[in-house]
Amino acid sequence: MFKYRLLTPGPTPVPEDTLLELARPVPHHRTAEARQILADVVEGLRYVFQTRGDVIPLTCSGTGAMEAALIHAVPRGAKALCLVAGKFGERWHQIWRTYGVESVAITAPPGQVVTPAMVETALRQHPDAQAVCVVHCETSTGVKHDLKALGELVAQTDAVLLVDAVSSAGAMELRMDDWHIDFLATGSQKALMLPPGLAFVAVSDKGWRAAQRHQPPAFYFDLKKARDKIREHDTPFTPAHTLLRALRRSLEKIRTEGIEAVWWRHARLAHACRAAVQALGLELFATVPAESLTAVRVPAQLDGQEILRRLEKDYGIKLAGGQDQLKGKILRIAHMGYIDFFDLLAAIAALELVLRDLGFDVPAGRGVAAAQRAFAEFHCSSGSSN
Ligand code: PLP
Repeated sequence: MFKYRLLTPGPTPVPEDTLLELARPVPHHRTAEARQILADVVEGLRYVFQTRGDVIPLTCSGTGAMEAALIHAVPRGAKALCLVAGKFGERWHQIWRTYGVESVAITAPPGQVVTPAMVETALRQHPDAQAVCVVHCETSTGVKHDLKALGELVAQTDAVLLVDAVSSAGAMELRMDDWHIDFLATGSQKALMLPPGLAFVAVSDKGWRAAQRHQPPAFYFDLKKARDKIREHDTPFTPAHTLLRALRRSLEKIRTEGIEAVWWRHARLAHACRAAVQALGLELFATVPAESLTAVRVPAQLDGQEILRRLEKDYGIKLAGGQDQLKGKILRIAHMGYIDFFDLLAAIAALELVLRDLGFDVPAGRGVAAAQRAFAEFHCSSGSSN
């Protein structure tokens, strides 16, 4: 028997006390208690996103938040720039097109990022672009975009900046106000340590001004209506209030630890994970790796699907593989939210066993030892993120 250990980049494990909140009886949602929960959750999310602006909880998955943000940012027929470095960048692009927005893709090959210089050039070529959208942590390839630099660029224009922070909020340094982010979208099932089912949109003043200039094609996702309600600690429709109550627990944990300490802890786990897989002779897939997950190239002689199958069946370790054209070619090890160093060590140890079972020559313990060393050294060099 092995314990089931979930190290996928969403969903992620949920702390026990948060789960217990979900087991409590369901109260009514139009009560003083429910309003207090909403107020606490909004305040907690503002802290995680580092914003003083409006934060709106939605009952949907992360893609719903992306769509809600996007339909408020620009009207049909407008032009937008879209940084595409993987599946989720491609998703922005698809949603724009669904709503009749002319989306210009700035594309990077899998495993690479779209650089600020590429965006600067695109902004010069398309001065009429009304929005720029980017995925902070591109979960499909494990790369991280330089949001700070992108924010500075876009802030010099009239365009709004939309950020998919689905797998970065609560794990990676993210400063919505300082980095001039206008629409930030995220979901509940990653570093916020909750099951799937909630999503959040945060909007800057510049974002609201953009939304004010047109009539967004939205009813359920009407963010202006939701903003007016949330300012009174209420929602236009029935919220998933038991999930919100549980989220309050997880957000308390982040607040107690301190957001910068949370970012540092994730950077340390990422550092240890990268050291481990490289010690095993595996190659990192991302050229600029994110702190939420590590994507690893599967050696040509091995079958990535088989590695995943054995990890789960033989050792109870659930990792993710590649999606679409990366299927079988990469492994993705998450280390965000409620995944700790010892969960990560278990995954590395099991990976060593599976690689050995498949005839890939790795001395037992090499990855585990490298992870421990990197973890300990990172502690000593306190604060440095790589
Ligand atoms: N964006 C990123 C970066 C993600 O990792 C995901 C989910 O994995 C999504 C968007 C989509 O979120 P959801 O599946 O919650 O709609």
